Amino acid sequence: MTSRCHVHPSRKLSGISYSLRGPLASQAERMRAAGKDVIALNLGDPAVYGLPPARKVVQAVRDHLDHSCGYSSAAGLPDARDAVARHYRSKGLDSVQSGDVYLGNGVSELAPLCLHALLNPRDQVLIPAPDYPMWTASVAMAGGRPVHYRCDEASNWYPDPGDIARKVTDRTRAIVVINPNNPTGAVWPGEILDGIADVARRHDLVLLADEIYADFLYDGTRHTPLATCAPDVPCLTFGGLSKRSRIPGYRMGWLALTGCRGPASDYVTALDTLATLRLCPNVPAQRAVETALHLDDTTALTAPGGALCLRRDHLWRLLAGIPGVRTVKPQGAFYVFPRITAGQYRLGDDERLAADLLHEEGLLVVPGSGLGPVPPGHLRMVTLPQPDVLTEAVNRLARFLERRCISGPSTTNHGTSPKARSHSGKERRPPR
Ligand code: PLP
Repeated sequence: MTSRCHVHPSRKLSGISYSLRGPLASQAERMRAAGKDVIALNLGDPAVYGLPPARKVVQAVRDHLDHSCGYSSAAGLPDARDAVARHYRSKGLDSVQSGDVYLGNGVSELAPLCLHALLNPRDQVLIPAPDYPMWTASVAMAGGRPVHYRCDEASNWYPDPGDIARKVTDRTRAIVVINPNNPTGAVWPGEILDGIADVARRHDLVLLADEIYADFLYDGTRHTPLATCAPDVPCLTFGGLSKRSRIPGYRMGWLALTGCRGPASDYVTALDTLATLRLCPNVPAQRAVETALHLDDTTALTAPGGALCLRRDHLWRLLAGIPGVRTVKPQGAFYVFPRITAGQYRLGDDERLAADLLHEEGLLVVPGSGLGPVPPGHLRMVTLPQPDVLTEAVNRLARFLERRCISGPSTTNHGTSPKARSHSGKERRPPR
């Protein structure tokens, strides 16, 4: 017998979604279960694409399992917090002590926690557009109002601190910075970060610096930790092992507080309370933090010839070969954010485009519209898969676009002979 009682979800959740694992991803699962060949380029999970985890880190967890059964202190084990503090001091965040570090079950746990501790109803938080959607959702769930500031594709996807300043109101409490950026792969330069720090300083705002991709940099690009631009401004820097050690399933992240002594001490008390309420972070994974922060095995992946650098180059070059597709070359992280230019193809909105791509070609990507207010025609793809998988994915995209080409079939490699550009396993020169 079916119940007539309807259970209403909370109104707090209206408009909250997570496009990376939304209905399209569920449809892709169903298609796979029905035996369809689906290439999924939607998740920034290295394990899904066969990139091995840092072995020593896995071993460190294994070695300590027997004495990881109890709760740890709420903010985490002293050794692990100390290791994070040392790590940040070595990056120029001179003031960080172990007491300034909170460990958590990934940045995905700590971001909502710090926002709940900060926001009153309708307080505003400035968030980059495009955005990693956890931030927009977390602000809304904490009762705040996400206000997006624009990252400009024509300027390497950098934001303009002047635009950020113009969006500050008397309800603004914080500015989120995601650098290196997901989804654009941009690495924002020091001058822009100085400008953002200055906006925070002038308006008494908190800086929330999501730097989980700080170890994934290409072409000699340097990363400036936001906190080094603002030692006098309350700043929470987020990082973790999901990407660095390629163990997102272990759920280990952290935040480090700087500029928070004195004026922000009530806020720190609120953070302590919330950290206590969730009892503690996953203890086995905390055992790996020290080992993980001693290892530098990401440079081998991102240096020229390294697996991630090759895959980024390969995907970017293939996309550049499709007429009307423009992609700013990512300098960090492991995503590309191509734009399909209007006027060349008959396409619906981004959601329609991504849905049609999945159904017609078995290619799962994230529509740009799921990543905040961005101009139409953008898709996010991960660069993590093997080159031959990326080749096949771009062939599918090219074939799909060819069918929608307004001026009839094109004469590119992709258009007339999609298989012609299969991967040779070696670096090739970009087309321009
Ligand atoms: N921040 C950004 C920018 C991300 O891309 C991700 C995951 O993809 C996260 C945070 C979540 O990280 P965690 O696994 O530590 O929760």
